[in-house]
Amino acid sequence: MRWSQTLIPTLKEVPADAEVPSHRLMLRAGLVRQVMAGAYTYLPLGWRAVQKAAAIVREEMEAAGAAELHFPAMSPIELWERSGRREAFGNVLLNFAFPRGDRKVHVALGPTHEEPITDLIKQSISSYKQLPLTLFQIQTKFRNEERPRFGVLRTSEFLMKDAYSFGTDVEQLNASYDAMYAAYCRIFERCGIPYLAVEAESGPIGGDASHEFMIPAENGEDAVVHCEASGYAANLERAETGRKPPKIEVPANAPVTVTVDTPGVSTIEAVCELLDVAPEQTLKTLLYIADAGTESEKIVAVVVRGDHEANEGKIRRAVGAKTIALADEATVQRVTGAPVGFAGPVGLTGVTLLADHDAVVVQPAVVGANAADKHTKGVICGRDWAVETTHDLRDARAGDPDPKGGGEMKLVRGIEVGHVFKLGTKYSDALGAEFLGEDQKRRSIVMGCYGIGINRIVAGAIETSHDDRGIVWPKGIAPYQCHVIPLDVKDDEVMTLAAKLHDDLEAAGVDCLLDDRKERPGVKFADADLIGLPTRITIGKRGMKDGVVEVKRRTDADAENVAPDAAVARVQDLLKD
Ligand code: ATP
Ligand code: MG
Repeated sequence: MRWSQTLIPTLKEVPADAEVPSHRLMLRAGLVRQVMAGAYTYLPLGWRAVQKAAAIVREEMEAAGAAELHFPAMSPIELWERSGRREAFGNVLLNFAFPRGDRKVHVALGPTHEEPITDLIKQSISSYKQLPLTLFQIQTKFRNEERPRFGVLRTSEFLMKDAYSFGTDVEQLNASYDAMYAAYCRIFERCGIPYLAVEAESGPIGGDASHEFMIPAENGEDAVVHCEASGYAANLERAETGRKPPKIEVPANAPVTVTVDTPGVSTIEAVCELLDVAPEQTLKTLLYIADAGTESEKIVAVVVRGDHEANEGKIRRAVGAKTIALADEATVQRVTGAPVGFAGPVGLTGVTLLADHDAVVVQPAVVGANAADKHTKGVICGRDWAVETTHDLRDARAGDPDPKGGGEMKLVRGIEVGHVFKLGTKYSDALGAEFLGEDQKRRSIVMGCYGIGINRIVAGAIETSHDDRGIVWPKGIAPYQCHVIPLDVKDDEVMTLAAKLHDDLEAAGVDCLLDDRKERPGVKFADADLIGLPTRITIGKRGMKDGVVEVKRRTDADAENVAPDAAVARVQDLLKD
């Protein structure tokens, strides 16, 4: 490809509104342009990178035994109503009605495709003999994201590889899941992006049933707790703290409790300032309603250390509830006799009381007094309030012990690039996708779903691989493998050799960009560094006189002189390692 025949509008200036390196570089290198918030055009270079990532994903999906199909982006809103996700997605689900003849058609644009594919399988699969089966597509998804940001990392319209597995039982599901997990590892290795497979919320199957693939990156929106020694990695929703139930002992000459006035002081920070204590010396008591609106509805009070964050997923599991939500102000007032901000574990009745492992050993503690504008000091667990056992109820943080016994955990930030998930029968139950078993009984098909954000592969690669001059493409997804730069564009010999090397590279299977622009060498070099192709051949009049061209990798400081005849082979060599 010749530069003059394509569109690579590089920018010298750093775009003001781009917050992260990948966004800045994708704009500056002429890979993308914004059409509106959350919607981007891929220009030729950017689109080639996307296509290369998609090709790797496709190859590995097929190698893992998945077959490709293709759905339309639109589907009838009824499907999403039947699964309950019209409501669950809320505003994120782009949907609209339009007139067709004398009726109205109401469609949703797929944010993902469980509903359409489960409906397809319901119509096409009837027997255990047709299972297991894994299908995938690479297709545009629509999500009306509340906050599109970071360039193509979070957009309202994006390209996803979504795969779905269908099996007769959990064993078949596990086998499909493991095959997808392994394929994901190969995909991200071939794309040249660093990744962590991170335990995530497990949903209905429970156990080890969901992993997010994260690109470690300072600007990542997700927090991951990680221990290098044991390899344990989990997202913040999921990560265990590695703490065990402590022995609760009442200190010998502990002071008595004192209740003090704390008018209008309802946050931990304000309490600490007023009473001159550290957050670690206080306890937060949070009220939740579990399984609201059902027969098993109950109020749960959760006690965590003042500087810790309560974790709703852990609380829900500890209670054994399906849903959990913070109690409303009226409930807090009724149960504690005080407005929000003054709840405490002492004398609290009519609730299920749960305490975090770290909460019960704060002795003495400052707690809410269950009275408006009052807190109590000198509170001792085991004397002034009690629990039978303690639980892991808070977010893990850096420095917590690794639950696998590996040592201290670190907190790293990451970009979620892929997700594998054991769905179970949620969608097959809702949409009636059943099979007839060997035993002649009808059962719901057991499903898994597996997504990869193709755009996030590209942006994530740039986010983790660049320098102050520009992108440093991993070979796997670089738009072209080699950049050929003739310096003296008015010199016929130089231009003829450049064209020949371009053609020879292409013939050898090395895709190549030839910068045939009538620009100064300085401009060409700066652009070459900015667009960051893995290898470069520079051809000048002076070198040609000596019978050499210059060859270098994007990452090399200096070029080597190579005879023109040997240049293609040398580039191929450099691309190998
Ligand atoms: P996030 O938590 O980042 O919003 P998600 O968990 O909702 O993502 P999934 O439903 O798991 O996303 O979708 C599968 C993959 O699609 C994600 O791992 C991610 O790579 C990609 N993806 C999801 N939302 C977006 C988006 N708005 N823009 C670009 N890629 C996205
Ligand atoms: Mg996800």
